[in-house]
Amino acid sequence: MIKKTIENVVKNDLCTGCGVCEDVCPQGAIHFSLQDGLSIPKIDKAICINHKGCNRCYQICSGVGMNLRGIAKTIFTGNLKSDYYAGSYQNAYAGFSNNYDIRFHSASGGMISQFLIFLLEKGFINGAIITKFRENSPTSPISFIATTEEEIMNGKSSKYCPVSLNGLISEINMLKGKYIVVGLPCHIQGFRKYELMYPKFREKIVGYFSTYCSSIRTFNGTDYLFSHYKIDKTKILSFSYRDDGCMGYMKITTEGEIIKIPYREYFQMLKSFFKPKRCLYCIDHYGDLADVSFGDIQTGRYRKDKIGINSIISRNSKLDKLLIQAKNENFIDLEKIELSTIHKSQRAMLSHKRRISGLNIQIEKRLGNETPNYDIQLQTNYSLIDYIAYLTIKVQRQIGKRRYLWPLIDVYNVLFALIKYLS
Ligand SMILES: Cc1cc2nc3c(=O)[nH]c(=O)nc-3n(C[C@H](O)[C@H](O)[C@H](O)COP(=O)(O)OP(=O)(O)OC[C@H]3O[C@@H](n4cnc5c(N)ncnc54)[C@H](O)[C@@H]3O)c2cc1C
Repeated sequence: MIKKTIENVVKNDLCTGCGVCEDVCPQGAIHFSLQDGLSIPKIDKAICINHKGCNRCYQICSGVGMNLRGIAKTIFTGNLKSDYYAGSYQNAYAGFSNNYDIRFHSASGGMISQFLIFLLEKGFINGAIITKFRENSPTSPISFIATTEEEIMNGKSSKYCPVSLNGLISEINMLKGKYIVVGLPCHIQGFRKYELMYPKFREKIVGYFSTYCSSIRTFNGTDYLFSHYKIDKTKILSFSYRDDGCMGYMKITTEGEIIKIPYREYFQMLKSFFKPKRCLYCIDHYGDLADVSFGDIQTGRYRKDKIGINSIISRNSKLDKLLIQAKNENFIDLEKIELSTIHKSQRAMLSHKRRISGLNIQIEKRLGNETPNYDIQLQTNYSLIDYIAYLTIKVQRQIGKRRYLWPLIDVYNVLFALIKYLS
């Protein structure tokens, strides 16, 4: 019997591009390539053994959804609290790296990079899967296993574009030692599905670190920014979406020039124009299946920070103790906070993730389209404003897909700013 494969997932716009299906294919028949600004898997039909009943790629796929709450119960143990938005959790913190350079040049407060360096230096891990930009193509990300402090720092900061962790499970399977995997919530879901299928893999993983994630943007989003700011992509020598301080700047180095554009200025221009369709179904803002999740914290007194600061949600008691050890050994600054403080700083994103994603799932289901399935109860009643937001996002995405319509984005943003100013 022919079973569903990731072809079905791609056809229904459900692929997150996480990359895990490439590693689970026993035939090596799956490879990722760029399509419409996204990283998408393709099956080599000549060697695929789907006709023999294999559909491991589909079973492993995070794009079709998963039981986030049910699986969390089997992974995380101990005295955990439960929260509608963050799932099971042990503690919530605010903190930052005590190394000024790491704190200043990372995405938020450099906690991911600094904690990895601590774990590496103390011998708790042999390496970590992280993502950097390619040397010969500085806006194109590549994920790899970092085994030194220098390599970890090469991967610092957020990549607001598609990232696939393909090929790295196979690499870890061939290595000895213990590793951390750093990724987005959808990457972590894919890895969790993989270890459910191959429990031995878990023995090599000390933990999964997730960034919070409101949504990625397709590579077209970055191209739009370059065209808006009149930056010649071919002249870029180094690139970062976030550098130089709290929230920071998109920083572009060309020969003889450093261009810095405030994160708050450029990111809000992107709105939903370049969001992949799959991200509109996502309900996992915090990375509920990660052992530790890391994000910004822009609320209350934390808004005054100028150098860099993180919020953190821990779910694994061993890693929670190691965070405290890293604090006691002066690698990081860490203070316990209420989870509600983090929710406050993520209010807009959380509302999108649960309300608009829930509405999107509901409408697409009614239209007979395949959507991801989760074991979390989503809202069922929506207001007129929700429907308007849903339609606005649909229109924005259609504009973002067509380069010749990109001038409309500038017009939209000017009108949006004007209305905001007047109201
Ligand atoms: C697409 C995206 C959306 C986000 N949305 C939010 C949000 O809505 N709210 C919020 O508070 N925070 C969000 N974050 C998280 C935030 O931007 C920081 O990544 C997080 O706070 C960690 O900061 P840090 O200084 O500790 O990390 P750093 O020390 O700078 O390290 C970041 C680590 O994450 C890895 N990484 C970066 N981007 C990716 C990627 N795309 N895929 C896989 N690995 C990656 C890097 O390789 C590096 O190891 C988002 C991040 C991303 C990538």
